[in-house]
Order: sequence, then structure tokens, then C-alpha cells
Amino acid sequence: MLKCKICNASSLKVLSTREATHKRPTMHYLQCPVCSVCFADPYTPAEVKTALGETFQYQVSPHDLKRLQRKITRLRKPINKFLLQILKGYSFYSIRFEHIYKILLSPLQVCLFKNIIPFIGTGRLLDVGCNIGLSMEILQSIGWQTQGVEPRIRWFELAKGRNLKVQHGTLDTVSFPDKHFDAILFIQVFEHIWNPIETLERAKKILVDNGRIFIEVPNQRCLSFYLFRELFYDYPDHCHCYSPRSLSLLCKKVGLMIKEIRIKSSSGQFIYFLKKKCDKLPNPWKDFLSAIICAKLFKLCFIQPLCFLLETLRFGDVMRVEIAKE
Ligand SMILES: [Zn+2]
Repeated sequence: MLKCKICNASSLKVLSTREATHKRPTMHYLQCPVCSVCFADPYTPAEVKTALGETFQYQVSPHDLKRLQRKITRLRKPINKFLLQILKGYSFYSIRFEHIYKILLSPLQVCLFKNIIPFIGTGRLLDVGCNIGLSMEILQSIGWQTQGVEPRIRWFELAKGRNLKVQHGTLDTVSFPDKHFDAILFIQVFEHIWNPIETLERAKKILVDNGRIFIEVPNQRCLSFYLFRELFYDYPDHCHCYSPRSLSLLCKKVGLMIKEIRIKSSSGQFIYFLKKKCDKLPNPWKDFLSAIICAKLFKLCFIQPLCFLLETLRFGDVMRVEIAKE
């Protein structure tokens, strides 16, 4: 009998079934009733690898580069460098009475630099699935020594072309010295990984003892999962769909522990799913509802307040998790 790979529970719940074609067998989307992780059966790494598409075309757009430059310029403003030092442990200046500023300004932590990771140790960082390396460039600009691994050849070449220290492959194929990195990032990557236990074990091995792993994944425990189910799950592009509970059980299994879980909610993603649902309706409903969904007023008056509410109730569609060694 098939068991959950994370918590070993049996009697898995079938969420839905994809009918067989001449190329592939019938496939079930399953959910574990105990830890709530979702995965597919039969599980086909080959299909997942095809979804990773070595031939996937991507160009760095001038818009992306402008946005990157704007972000770097903003972060490097003296006031932001000062705040990063006080709130996030970065090191730019020699500040007298720094500990007093830390006490006085600590309440600002809840609203400032929420997407910037704290500075850890000597600042060696690995970005797993680094894409074309834009995040690495931002982190380098504030003091991190970054390395990246990227499995898609085109993205790897683009990152390499931007003079970044990147290797082609995954944590399965590229080796690093033990206890080398102070921080390891999996940003919108971990849900694509078909062997999460082995991958986390490798990450743990190359992480220093007081280092941190940061994982950002879609959150299964969210409204979008119940409303849009397979669109949200997105197999085979996404191999697993995690909730805070399943991710913490997974960490426990490999001797890691979750220090903090932040839940976010993306209005753009919610609108994208709604539009996809509408595309299946017949006309004139399809055109009529699509026009409403794409209207700025609809986003402002309905979607954004809804996302704010979901985030407050910790029911948003993205979770960012900070993980340490036990
Ligand atoms: Zn389970």
C-alpha cells in the first residue's frame, strides 16, 4: 500500500484523477490525511524533468534589468544601509551606540525589509534554482558572497553571462564542501523538487551549524487550494504541495527545525487563477467575467482586501520559512 513519503501515513485521499492517454497511465492526485502534503501517483521524475524543459526560452528583459537596478539603488541608499544594519545584522558602518538603536528601532522589523534575509555568519550564500541570478545580484550588492545552481541550461548561461558564480545542475549533481554556507535559499523552487528528503539532507550537510535555510513555496493551507485545486497544485511543474504542517514534519525528519513561518498572499496569482477558471466558461459569460476580473477597480476593492484578510488569518497562498539545524 502506498504511504506518505513524509509522515508514513497510509489511506491517502484521492483529490482527483487524470485520465490515461496513449503516452502515460492514469494518474491520481493524492493528499495525506495526516500531514496534508499533496503528490502524484504514479510519480514520474521523467515527466517532472520534461516540465523543467531544457529548451525553455527566456531573455532578460530591459524591464527586469531596470527593476533590478532600481532595487539595488534603493537598498544602497545610506538610510537603508543603516536600517539593514540595525534591523537585519548587515555590516556597512561603524555606528556608535548601535545596541541602543537596535532596541529603539526593533519594532520596525514588522514592516521594513520583510523580504530581505538577515545577515548570517561570514555571508556565504547558495541560491538553489537561482534562475538568471537577479536575486543573487541584489544580495551581492548588500554584502553576501553568492553562489548559485540552476538546472535549466538557458537560465544558467544567462546567469553565467552576468558574471555570477553559478553551476549548472541541482543539489543532486553539484557538490560543495561540508559546512560551507551560512544561508541556503530555495525561493519558489522546493515545490519543483521530486526528492525533498534527500535534497534537504544535502542542504543540511553543506550548511554551517548556526546557518539558515530559507524556503518559499506555495502554501497548501490557503483559499486558492480549495477554490482552484489542480490549477494551484500545477503538476508536473510542481511535484509536491506543502502546508506549514507537512513542511515542519519534513524538516523534523532530516534533523532540521522551523524557526519562523511567514504567510503572504499574492493578488496577482489570485486574479490569474480566477481568469483561468473563467476561460473554461462559454461566451458571453467568459468575456463578461474576464473583463470584470481584469478591471483595476475589482482588484482594488475586492481582491486586495481579500488578500490582506487571508494574510492576516494565515491563510495566504505563499509561505516563507526560516529553518535551522536542530
Ligand atoms: Zn503525511
